[in-house]
Amino acid sequence: MVKNIDLRELWKNLSTAKSVVLFPHVNPDGDAVGACVALCLTLREHGVDCKVCSGKVPDYLGFLNTSYFIDDREVGNPEICVAVDCSEDYRMDRRGGAFYRGNKHYCIDHHQTDCGFGDRFYIDGAAAAACTIIFDMLKEAGAVLSRDAANAIYTGICTDTGNFKHANTDSRSHNIAAELLEVGVDHTEIMASLYKNRSMKKVLCESRAIEKAFVFSGGRGIISYLSSEEMAKINATHEDTDEIIDKLRDIAGVEMAAYLEEREEGIKISMRAKTYGNVRDICRSFGGGGHIAAAGATVKMSMEDAFAAVKRAIEESL
Ligand code: 5GP
Ligand code: MN
Repeated sequence: MVKNIDLRELWKNLSTAKSVVLFPHVNPDGDAVGACVALCLTLREHGVDCKVCSGKVPDYLGFLNTSYFIDDREVGNPEICVAVDCSEDYRMDRRGGAFYRGNKHYCIDHHQTDCGFGDRFYIDGAAAAACTIIFDMLKEAGAVLSRDAANAIYTGICTDTGNFKHANTDSRSHNIAAELLEVGVDHTEIMASLYKNRSMKKVLCESRAIEKAFVFSGGRGIISYLSSEEMAKINATHEDTDEIIDKLRDIAGVEMAAYLEEREEGIKISMRAKTYGNVRDICRSFGGGGHIAAAGATVKMSMEDAFAAVKRAIEESL
């Protein structure tokens, strides 16, 4: 735990502010969007002018209430800007400029780190999701969750635990899910949207990446990639490739998986470890970070060089 404020004081400061803008990490996932939606809606019910400054919300999260999501040009000078589920300020991408236009800067996160950023930070590396921190804060404050806020928190816990498959799944995540089911979250609708709604483009990207995957270290290492040319052929975007890395990891015998993708900003590396590896340290060595079992980085090198470097790092680590 890295913090310079407790949850009660954090809620007090946020709920008595005039204006608050929340900033999820770049390419936001269910946890980043869910945590922002839940906090935003609840703060608004307490009279705070709260908005969320996010990059594009992926289509599969379209069922969440994103009514108060704005562009970075609309941020203005809010009283408090909060980075949510975002471990470093560079992970807000070009929205970082808007973040620093706020009067005060906070961070609420669950990525393991030795230091926080901003004036006030609450970083619980043991929390399965940023959504569990938001839930705890709202519960401690006695705030009532609307149906939309409850759905958002449930979504974040499901997605960040891999639907209760990953090692970060704990009694807390199950207990919060149970409490949310008791207040009537739309479980069937959320599961259908998250897991039974895969576009053909997504499936084609996955099959292509799996088909050309390179297996090494006696089957414990696996690496694959897609070039922008291949993605263009399928008419796919980054949203269509975000689950490839999990499919690679899920193959029997694999302990460490990497997926590389050609992007405008460089080669995006996604890594996963299954039972014992530490991909966070590998990704840190490439200038990125994340969790022990799920991490990423972006490097400025050719696909060929990135492939060789990541493969070597996995071989050494395994
Ligand atoms: P993904 O592979 O799904 O993009 O990311 C896996 C995990 O690593 C997520 O928790 C994500 O926030 C984190 N992550 C991905 N890319 C980066 C990066 O460039 N820097 C840092 N610090 N974390 C990253
Ligand atoms: Mn998260």
